[in-house]
Amino acid sequence: MKSISRRTFNTKLTQGMAAAALLGAPLACGMGKQQNKKLGIALVGLGSYSTYQLAPGLQDAQHCYLAGIVTGTPEKEQIWMEKYDIPQKNVYSYENFDSIAENADIDIVYVVLPNSMHADFSIRAAKAGKHVICEKPMAVSVAECDAIIQACEEAGVKLSVGYRMQSDPYTNEIKRMVKEKPYGDVHYVSSDAGYISRGNPDQWRLDRELSGGGALMNMGVYSIQSNIYGNGNNPISVSAQEFSTRPEYFKNTDESITAQMEFPDGVVGHMFTSHNANANRLFVSFESGWAELNPCHSYGPLSGRTSDGNEISFPHQSQQMLQMDDFVKHILRGTPNYAPGEMGKRDMIIVEAIYQSIEEGGKRIPLNLGDLGIVRV
Ligand code: NAD
Repeated sequence: MKSISRRTFNTKLTQGMAAAALLGAPLACGMGKQQNKKLGIALVGLGSYSTYQLAPGLQDAQHCYLAGIVTGTPEKEQIWMEKYDIPQKNVYSYENFDSIAENADIDIVYVVLPNSMHADFSIRAAKAGKHVICEKPMAVSVAECDAIIQACEEAGVKLSVGYRMQSDPYTNEIKRMVKEKPYGDVHYVSSDAGYISRGNPDQWRLDRELSGGGALMNMGVYSIQSNIYGNGNNPISVSAQEFSTRPEYFKNTDESITAQMEFPDGVVGHMFTSHNANANRLFVSFESGWAELNPCHSYGPLSGRTSDGNEISFPHQSQQMLQMDDFVKHILRGTPNYAPGEMGKRDMIIVEAIYQSIEEGGKRIPLNLGDLGIVRV
């Protein structure tokens, strides 16, 4: 009999389940937790986002649950095990993380570490045969994004970026307007994402080695994302400028950046991102009206309005819960992956072009993205 590795077996198992689900067959019994269609997620890195957003979001999720943790801080282990009823066998350190391959409780590894550690842990997770969610920004370079995508393809596992906005109903309402054109075609999009950073100047977000960059890496990816879904297309060029008013605090990372993007059909996009200004807005100007979300990129409740006086309003739900449930539905049922690796890579191509433009004095940098990372539903 042909031998089959555990990783191949797990992958085939998931693929078989996906096929069964697509065909409308009930998901097979005798698969532990997967019996009730809940997949087990292990969070890697138990910092503020895992603690205050992802773990609580998982408590309400319908299709996944918090099955394990990976931490470099042993003092956190007991606290999390007790709080979330996690067995000791599902607790890992960064050093023994690779042995997670042998743990059938863990279906998905969610990497929630400083940006420069995303690629290493995402690739190791893929090699362990686990589906991967990698936080934003996906990595600190396009080359690293490519390496993550390749590792997931080779391992036959699914990959998603932690772009929670892609599962948010307000975002989806903007996408609907862009697609169905109740106010006609889009002519202009403006998106802003920033906050005033006054904390510890030695935090990893202000350390280029760990963050890969400043405001643009941290908050700028939100402005890029909303400009693109506010357009429905990828940009064809970008020009950018950087502003520095507190160089003593922002020693080696960018403080504020503005960028202008050209889109197909003459649409113009403007984006702003900052670690020195509070900004949280998307404005889409259509042929005969406009739509605005403000706040737009935060955890919610969000708020929106249109030019004819209508409110955009949805009941508040955890975006993180929606995002993780959407990814599980993609794995099990073949529904769209709303934030695939290609989307994270596309945004990193734009990030690198913005930094290049700044270095070259605001030069227009052509982009050749085609439909990379665009998810049309
Ligand atoms: P954090 O500083 O609160 O937590 C970072 C975690 O990484 C901590 O548990 C820390 O112990 C661990 N770590 C391991 N090695 C480290 C090192 N060398 N230096 C510093 N920390 C180290 O950060 P966070 O806010 O939880 O962010 C983690 C990731 O999640 C980042 O990539 C960030 O961009 C992303 N994030 C995403 C969202 C979102 O809305 N999608 C929101 C917040 C953060």
